[in-house]
Amino acid sequence: MHTEIVMIGTELLLGQIVDTNAAYIGRILAENGINLFQKTTVGDNRARILRVLDAALDRADVVLTSGGLGPTEDDITRECVAELAGQPLEFRHDLYEQLAARFQRIRRPMSDNNKKQAFAPRGATAIENPNGTAPGLIVDTGRGVVICMPGVPHELEAMLTASVLPYIRERFGLSGLVHYRVLKVCGVGESRVDSAIGDLIVSSDNPKIGLLASPDAVKIRISARANTLHEADALIDALESHVRDRLPGLVMGVDEDTLQSVVDGLLVQRGWTLAVAESVTGGMIAQRLTAAGSQSLMGAVAVPPGRLDGHDLQQAAVQWAANVRAQFQADAGLAMTANLSERRAVAAFCPPDGPTATWELAFARCDELSQLRTSVICLERLRRLLSGIEDSAQDART
Ligand code: ATP
Ligand code: MG
Repeated sequence: MHTEIVMIGTELLLGQIVDTNAAYIGRILAENGINLFQKTTVGDNRARILRVLDAALDRADVVLTSGGLGPTEDDITRECVAELAGQPLEFRHDLYEQLAARFQRIRRPMSDNNKKQAFAPRGATAIENPNGTAPGLIVDTGRGVVICMPGVPHELEAMLTASVLPYIRERFGLSGLVHYRVLKVCGVGESRVDSAIGDLIVSSDNPKIGLLASPDAVKIRISARANTLHEADALIDALESHVRDRLPGLVMGVDEDTLQSVVDGLLVQRGWTLAVAESVTGGMIAQRLTAAGSQSLMGAVAVPPGRLDGHDLQQAAVQWAANVRAQFQADAGLAMTANLSERRAVAAFCPPDGPTATWELAFARCDELSQLRTSVICLERLRRLLSGIEDSAQDART
């Protein structure tokens, strides 16, 4: 079973909007183990839309389209698909009633051109659009199925997952699914992760491993194709444990875990509250913890780099960590000091018991990306410290 997608809209060609719908469709099809072989983008032009759809039907069993179902003059997908199927456009009372009911619900008058949306190629199945006026269409052309969805992203997304996907699965007897899990590694580069698990990436087929780097984390995506979720999970579990063996202590979390939520969890586990003093990162660490709904954070201060940082960065960091801990009556203090000209920063963590730990952080600039990286490295070092992971061989770095 092969699918293709055809994205319709001149704005897409002109670069006025970014084609997020294609990315969304691609991701959902992949997750469901449905082959997508080609994507074509075409403007609102009847002859060219017909040509593109015709060519797609030569290759694919199912062609999914996005856009051009609206009420305006340039919305011509409906007409094009009718022509391709060799069927006339028919006025459909049922669709008209649905449209009228929707306009009544949103208390807006229905204009004459909205009535256009009550027309469908003869024999087409209409798909309900819970988020908008334009119904979707399933049209059997005899050479393959064309499924038309509106261009507005939240309308398309709801329609694809609620109606189109179940239709395709049922019609083509697709029983399998693709399930995945993402392991997250922070504070080490993509190449480092690649050299540790590169052979697994090359040799793995089902489950398969892929790497995706972002300033936040290197994401290791393990995806498995199976008949049930349970089977897929079992396949993923096995490979996950190999990956973890290769990266001892470095897997920060999975799926929805964030560095800040994991660090917060570790603090809560010990029953410790935290106060933070930040140079360089300007409050980003506190902001991240807050966004994670931190249970441990008692308070934070942000000071521009150079303002309070003393001559001896390390000494200043230790002092600052103790001060902020006292200021907010927290159990533990985390502080960061910096020397901009030397591009050095030092972090200190003073726990309620035991010695204060300090570590060096290299940073490039004080722009937002560097701040993001520095906050990640600082939190990752804190995570390793709180997890009791030996850090000498695997320094978190920019
Ligand atoms: P409407 O009923 O709103 O007219 P439609 O089916 O006619 O929907 P379009 O007119 O092509 O769809 O697009 C409507 C809006 O949806 C666009 O202005 C744009 O904001 C958004 N849109 C369209 N196509 C895409 C796409 N491929 N990716 C992201 N957004 C899109
Ligand atoms: Mg439109």
